[in-house]
Amino acid sequence: MIIDRLDRPLGSLRVSVTDRCNMRCRYCMPEAEYVWLPKQSILTFEELARLVGIFTSLGVEKIRLTGGEPLLRHDLPTLTGMLARNPRIRDLALTTNGLLLSRQADALKQAGLGRVTVSLDTLRPDRMRELARTDRHADVLAGIAAARAAGFRLKLNTVVIRGVNEDELVDLIEFARAHDAEIRFIEYMDVGGATGWSAEQVVSQREILAVLTARYGPITPLTTGDVSAPAERYRLPDGSTFGIVASTTAPFCRSCDRSRLTADGTWFLCLYAERGTDLREPLRNGATDQELTDLITSTWRGRSDRGAEERLGVANRAPLYAIDGLRADPHREMHTRGG
Ligand code: SAM
Repeated sequence: MIIDRLDRPLGSLRVSVTDRCNMRCRYCMPEAEYVWLPKQSILTFEELARLVGIFTSLGVEKIRLTGGEPLLRHDLPTLTGMLARNPRIRDLALTTNGLLLSRQADALKQAGLGRVTVSLDTLRPDRMRELARTDRHADVLAGIAAARAAGFRLKLNTVVIRGVNEDELVDLIEFARAHDAEIRFIEYMDVGGATGWSAEQVVSQREILAVLTARYGPITPLTTGDVSAPAERYRLPDGSTFGIVASTTAPFCRSCDRSRLTADGTWFLCLYAERGTDLREPLRNGATDQELTDLITSTWRGRSDRGAEERLGVANRAPLYAIDGLRADPHREMHTRGG
């Protein structure tokens, strides 16, 4: 196990398999045009599996496939199967918007995927059209049903935005319960790509708890034993559970053990980090496993990032990057970094 300058282990890796997405959520990809990563820079499955193997040899036990929309990456079950054969991975998960999930759920299950998280911000198709510029709400619901039928443990992610969907907290809790899923409400974050972010639109953990307490009665915080898990989990009086990711108002940097690999092999130590480490160049120039191990080890040992906590101290907090800054370097985008 290697630890960084704040004693945080290298524990979980989010692997973005593509920067492309088939939704245009206004909190993530609100623009009409994007600069994409060059095709030839995208890592092959063999390259990804090799890098993941090196990360797991250094203590990473949790891998989450993400994007962009990971199910847009051709033949994702094959990559999933390659990773599932790595015995060091204790938790192999996928975050998806669900649009293509119904077609792939069985194949992903057979390939060895352990868990699925589906992003679901609203139960109303008209609202989704407005929020994510897609009229395929029914496909997301079909994806959720297929994931359940395939036997996955399911989570739902909801970004809560004032004036958009904060009136659906109870409906979403009820939906999750009816579908045997655990929902996590995520505070709207001022990450790269969220060019329309403003503090007023953030619905805080405190507010979410107040609304749910008014509806359900006393809510009990749960200690999961996993201090690095970003969602604080709670139990309703009837025993059902849910989570809140309070990354904007109460960030959890001190226990953050996660890092992110983009589809072109750039490794980020923090969602808010200005720069990442290029692993593709040494990988493609013949670096040995030992050389890559040394590079990853020394980079992690130098890590002192506390991006979300530092954002708390910014006066007149506004979007992290304006559009020009994002166009200048698409690695700054949430959909490139993998949320
Ligand atoms: N396309 C997949 C999906 O929709 O789940 C995976 C990638 S998406 C970037 C991963 C997660 O990031 C989603 O749950 C999304 O809601 C979240 N996300 C994106 N932008 C966000 C923002 N500004 N604040 C909070 N969460 C955000």
